[in-house]
Amino acid sequence: MRRKRLNIAIDGPSGSGKSTLAKLLAKKYNLIYIDTGAIYRTIGLYAMRAGVDRTDTEGVISLLPHMKIEMTLENGGGVVWLNGERMGDELRTPECSLYASDVSKIPAVREYILELQRGIARRNDCVMDGRDIGTVILPKAQVKIFLFASVEKRAERRLIELREKGEDVTLEQVLEDMRWRDENDKTRKIAPAIPAPDAVMLDNGGLGIEATLDAASEIIESKVKI
Ligand code: C5P
Repeated sequence: MRRKRLNIAIDGPSGSGKSTLAKLLAKKYNLIYIDTGAIYRTIGLYAMRAGVDRTDTEGVISLLPHMKIEMTLENGGGVVWLNGERMGDELRTPECSLYASDVSKIPAVREYILELQRGIARRNDCVMDGRDIGTVILPKAQVKIFLFASVEKRAERRLIELREKGEDVTLEQVLEDMRWRDENDKTRKIAPAIPAPDAVMLDNGGLGIEATLDAASEIIESKVKI
């Protein structure tokens, strides 16, 4: 029988550095990197383009049958496709973040993409980042890390990222969006963004990228032979 795939779950709030860490771990341990936020962002983008308000639950649900979301693997990472269109930087705008956060509260949306995420984890050794990976998507993941830092620290990092992409935003705007999104993600009824009971908490507020990678590697190596 084929051995069980190695699944590493990285959860945490926005701007905690999950994707940076997950990409580095994927490279270090030769795993596939899956960014589940990109899938919610894709559904948000579709709703945005369709002119459906992000809080219009019925409207968003009615769009689902028109969306074909697929993921292919390229250079060790997942690429999301929406009706044959490759998704990229258009998913990263502040408006798309708000859309993603709202559409992700809808149970039918979460259900719609559940199997897509689980299927990838069944077929690949992977590190998957999101909000509910350790709690809902991969409750049996061999390693679960909950990465976090203060909202101020996370907003500072996100500001640098957005400015590098040419977005004209202020720290206050980023901070406000982030506070709103934290609350929205944490308090929703379904799959709230909270740590799994068996997740290892990793506060990287005072850590740089290398130190975060070292700390996460230590956690992983204490749990699995890799
Ligand atoms: O991680 P990222 O910021 O790209 O995620 C965008 C939004 O998608 C989050 O604010 C969250 O509401 C939602 N999300 C989720 N569950 C996941 C990943 C993302 O609800 N596993």
